[in-house]
Amino acid sequence: MSLLSGLSGLGLNDLESMDIYGEAEKAEAKKKAQEPVKIEEKDLIYEKTFKCPCCDSDVPAKIMKTGKAKLIGTDQDLRPRYEGIDAVKYDAILCPACGYTALSRFFPNLTSPQAKLIKEKISANVKIPNYKNEIYSYEEAVERYQLALVNAVVKHGRASEKAYICMKSAWLMRGYRESVTDTDRGTPELVAELKAKEEEYIQNAYNGFVEARQNEGFPMCGMDEITVDYLLGVLAAHLKKYDVASRMVSSILTSTSANNRMKDKARDLKEQIMLQMKNNK
Ligand SMILES: [Zn+2]
Repeated sequence: MSLLSGLSGLGLNDLESMDIYGEAEKAEAKKKAQEPVKIEEKDLIYEKTFKCPCCDSDVPAKIMKTGKAKLIGTDQDLRPRYEGIDAVKYDAILCPACGYTALSRFFPNLTSPQAKLIKEKISANVKIPNYKNEIYSYEEAVERYQLALVNAVVKHGRASEKAYICMKSAWLMRGYRESVTDTDRGTPELVAELKAKEEEYIQNAYNGFVEARQNEGFPMCGMDEITVDYLLGVLAAHLKKYDVASRMVSSILTSTSANNRMKDKARDLKEQIMLQMKNNK
């Protein structure tokens, strides 16, 4: 029998069965708090405005909240994997007014001769689709990366910048493929197409980084020499260029500046190269 029974006599019959200390509600709230919250991509990004170095317009872009997104791992080729979001999608900044596009680390750096080339060859002709999505879809992200690459070619950008765009484009294709695999959209044709594109970008990234390593200094695209050598080693092993892959591994293992984490990664890569060579014989 409830302590409040009898309230109906006071005209408060609806309140007769109230839980005095709200225990049931507290238990419910506690249960809710323990349920894992589903992280949504839209909550992990924000709108930021950049200044276009080509035409001086304000450039809106969606940027990942690095402090909020949780890193859950990295692929062998250093592609980062975050919970609930593919960070790679959010790195290309595109000016809707003139079409100038670059990955964020290169975006502000544009000389006036380069701006002139972009105005002539890109701004004059480009038609930018007007997406209204809350997040960048893979289709939209792929277009942004293609524009970044063509901009880098038109402005005669460094080999390292083009290689870096190709590397990240390969990661984008991988993320795209992973996102459609085991869904209705993941037809065998699409999966095969995305895989083929990833391979082509990997080949181009490799060529560009080989050239950049010969002609440019470090840091390169924010990476030190050890990191670039490691990445080249991974790409070379993937492309079955075992002489180059082994040379990169040795240079890391004998380096006095490589930290233990990099040396461990290099040792894993060395084992993999030896296994691959054995299996390919
Ligand atoms: Zn612009």
